[in-house]
Amino acid sequence: MAAGTVLEWREGLDQGDLSAVSLVQAAFDRMDRLEPTLNALVWRDREGALGAAREADRRLHAGERSPMLGVPFILKDNFNWAGTPMGCGSKILQGYQSPYDATVVARLLRAGAVPLAKANMDEFAMGSSGEYSAFGPTRNPWDGSRVPGGSSSGSIVSVAASYAPFALGSDTGGSVRLPAGFCNVTALRPTYGVLSRHGLTAMASSLDQPGPVARSAADLAKGFAVLAGRDPLDSTSVDIPGAERLEDLRPADLAGLRIGLPKEYFGEGIEAPVREAVAAALKVFESQGAILEEVSLPHTAWALDTYYLLCTSEVGSNLSRFDGVRYGARVPDGGFHAMLAATRDAGLGAEVKRRILLGTFCLSKGYYEAFYLKALKARTLIAADFAKAFAKVDVLATPTSPALPFRFGEKSADPIAMYLADAYSVAAPLAALPCMSIPAGFAPSPDTPSKRLPVGLQLIGPALSDVRLLELAHAFQCCTDHHAQSPDLST
Ligand code: GLN
Repeated sequence: MAAGTVLEWREGLDQGDLSAVSLVQAAFDRMDRLEPTLNALVWRDREGALGAAREADRRLHAGERSPMLGVPFILKDNFNWAGTPMGCGSKILQGYQSPYDATVVARLLRAGAVPLAKANMDEFAMGSSGEYSAFGPTRNPWDGSRVPGGSSSGSIVSVAASYAPFALGSDTGGSVRLPAGFCNVTALRPTYGVLSRHGLTAMASSLDQPGPVARSAADLAKGFAVLAGRDPLDSTSVDIPGAERLEDLRPADLAGLRIGLPKEYFGEGIEAPVREAVAAALKVFESQGAILEEVSLPHTAWALDTYYLLCTSEVGSNLSRFDGVRYGARVPDGGFHAMLAATRDAGLGAEVKRRILLGTFCLSKGYYEAFYLKALKARTLIAADFAKAFAKVDVLATPTSPALPFRFGEKSADPIAMYLADAYSVAAPLAALPCMSIPAGFAPSPDTPSKRLPVGLQLIGPALSDVRLLELAHAFQCCTDHHAQSPDLST
């Protein structure tokens, strides 16, 4: 069965031309064939998925209709899904089974969507390439010698390789947008609070957001429709205006739309093919009547430092719970302190340890004011830059990443080089703003010109403009077909 989109499959399911069971069977056949190469998944259960699909088919036969009923989806392995293992890309959680469903998982299950698998990821969502997983790297389906981007590497590749038309990743500082740009899919990081964090394993709580992933904005909106909105189990969660428009997303009218191009994102560091693809994408908006305008976000240069100070501080604190007592693996070694040290030493990878050390340092007496507090102040200035820009323009557009997907090993040994890959993705989360990456075009792969590498366009909107952002993306996707292109995985 050809891989379809949420929209196509929903239509087929409603008309009785397709069954959820047949979709699951096709998905597992595809995963069995491609997983030895792609390594996008860490756990899957054919029988369990078939059971959920049979239940969805029963609801369909009973005449029920809803936006995700019978649609297969894949979850990043940092979401709790009751009764299944959760590893967060780490050895330290070996043997851990989730005792409950994250709110976003519960909402998808209630809507009748069919869960297939847990997806590979950088350990505890720290990374930009997918190379920091304890379960091996995931490959970019467009060019297997290159990274898919991270940390939601497996969720993104699952959609790019058509295992499922919908997936959930998480985005703290770019983790759905960066890989979406690298793999030619559409991903949204909602306004902070629009998706509940209950049951998403915390990395940096003031930044973490679940991030829906699909081929197109219209597909993504179907899943987002059942996910968005306040959750009593997450006190930071909020309702979203315009949610009723999600189920049947209409393209925005682009005439007169003011698009701001922050000059700090169009400087010298951009690779030429990225610059060209983004320029061509912006021309499409212009041809539909949008007005492009240069704006400035003057504190952009501080965003990366600010993000990594705040992120590591929160990581140092959040990850103290993995102590060999409460979750997963334990290395017995003498008394409590020796056990704790031995468990964390054996269970955590180098990047996670680096961040715990950095974060603990930032929060320690004598350094707190110089680092953590200063970063909080910088965060306020970064948010104020965006507020000023949105007084002049409706939306901001930037490349998702200044570079094309890089080669394995190119940055993994140099933490600073890896952090720099996030240069364009960390500022919007610091300001709690909704942002997305949409397919913008392709460039020939530098070492294999017969292969094409995707380029992403990032859209950033004012707080709570998530639905509008999806409508803008949908309008762009109505005039382009980049998002409909798939990698050749036939051999
Ligand atoms: N690459 C960024 C980091 O490593 C973002 C990660 C994320 O969004 N989870 O912190």
